[in-house]
Amino acid sequence: MEKQPIKFWDRHQDGEEAEKNWDKNSDSLKAFHKLRPFKKLPKNEPGIRKSTKKNLRWKALKYLLINDEKKVFPKYFLKKPIAYSVSMTASYLKKNPYERDDDFFLYGIKNVTEFEHLLQEENSILAIGFSYCHKPFECPSGRFTDQCIHDDKSPICGQCFIGKCMHAMPENKTVPIVIPTVHDIGEKMFELSDQNPGKEILFMITACELTLKMFADWGNMIKIRGIGVRLGGQICNTMPAFVASESGIKPGMTVVLDKTQTRMMELISMRRSAENKAP
Ligand code: SF4
Repeated sequence: MEKQPIKFWDRHQDGEEAEKNWDKNSDSLKAFHKLRPFKKLPKNEPGIRKSTKKNLRWKALKYLLINDEKKVFPKYFLKKPIAYSVSMTASYLKKNPYERDDDFFLYGIKNVTEFEHLLQEENSILAIGFSYCHKPFECPSGRFTDQCIHDDKSPICGQCFIGKCMHAMPENKTVPIVIPTVHDIGEKMFELSDQNPGKEILFMITACELTLKMFADWGNMIKIRGIGVRLGGQICNTMPAFVASESGIKPGMTVVLDKTQTRMMELISMRRSAENKAP
């Protein structure tokens, strides 16, 4: 990531005032610098097409292993082969390896309240990740990259939800990630888990429903707990669309729905308050 600007939230008395000013600024930017809008999928379009749902976990396993160019999986798996085999088998034996609360997919937690408690844990690292496909088309850092300058003076970043989250999240023990591919996020999560022994790795990551279902078992394997946030807009709901998106071919744009943005901001705000209280 490039040099980080001072966060918008750090320039305000409190989170409420910061968010109000961010939204006000974002609304006024919309008036003179319109971003290319995202197209909604047809109303009855499912999160995952019926034919794609078939043997999805097997397809996920095959896809991850065949396309693991950097050999991320063997590199980390072989460090704890027995522990990972046990937790992965336990996950595969479950019909649903996650719980669901509207757009939130819950991994290793029963409900959002449990996650809220975990956010207060001093001994935790929180990864907040964003799929590249909901960056604006005009993103100054480029779309298919892991970069995000989140320059709040930019009329594009000032209207971007990723920018808003970047400026709201605390510096300490909270790791922002922009995700070009599933292998990148897998590598990052393995890395965090490996580099922080004894710490609880938590996550909140945006992705299409297809990705959230395909890769649930892998998250359970490394025993990280958190929330996958389902995206709307022009999502990938078939394997060919997913595979194309993984190589940067994503003509459409996804979006975190408004009500879900509010829920994410609440959780980020809780994490910030917990960090501010920390000694
Ligand atoms: S804040 Fe949004 S528009 Fe700005 S660099 Fe980051 S992703 Fe791109």
